[in-house]
Amino acid sequence: MSVRALFAVDLSPILAGRDAAPFPIPPFEVLDTVEGEPLTATVTVHADRTNRGVRFRGTVRGTQESACARCLKAVRVPLAAEIDEEAVEARHQTGEELAIGKGNMVDLGRLAIEALDLVRELAPICSPPCPERCGLCGGEHTAASCPTREVDPRLASLAALLTEDRDDEPQIG
Ligand SMILES: [Zn+2]
Ligand SMILES: [Zn+2]
Repeated sequence: MSVRALFAVDLSPILAGRDAAPFPIPPFEVLDTVEGEPLTATVTVHADRTNRGVRFRGTVRGTQESACARCLKAVRVPLAAEIDEEAVEARHQTGEELAIGKGNMVDLGRLAIEALDLVRELAPICSPPCPERCGLCGGEHTAASCPTREVDPRLASLAALLTEDRDDEPQIG
């Protein structure tokens, strides 16, 4: 499966150059969609030659366009992540390392989006938080205090027992 390159960088100069040769990477922006949520990333990264390839270190800042897990309104979540990844030349590959691809290309955009994906919020809520919604009727109260809730008498007596137990617990301290 081939994945569309987001921001591919040709590493030929740094791979051919001497150890301390500068290889500037200007800050750049990428956009991709992960599980239906647009992620925007601003990437500041620098490259250092290693004995196996090139090490990238820097930061990714971005936003996740999502929907509030409570009220489903659109929310934008600010995200930030560190990048510290070594891309390895094919001849030095031993396992699951990030490989330097054909033409000495590495997709730094993909690397950045993957870093943001790791810190993406799975259930974002509004900021400031919107009221908690009832799981039974969707109203602006907790499920425990929902007027539509019908308590099974057997559960009610069990709940009473549990409350008593809690009261009987010896106090430590
Ligand atoms: Zn909300
Ligand atoms: Zn309710």
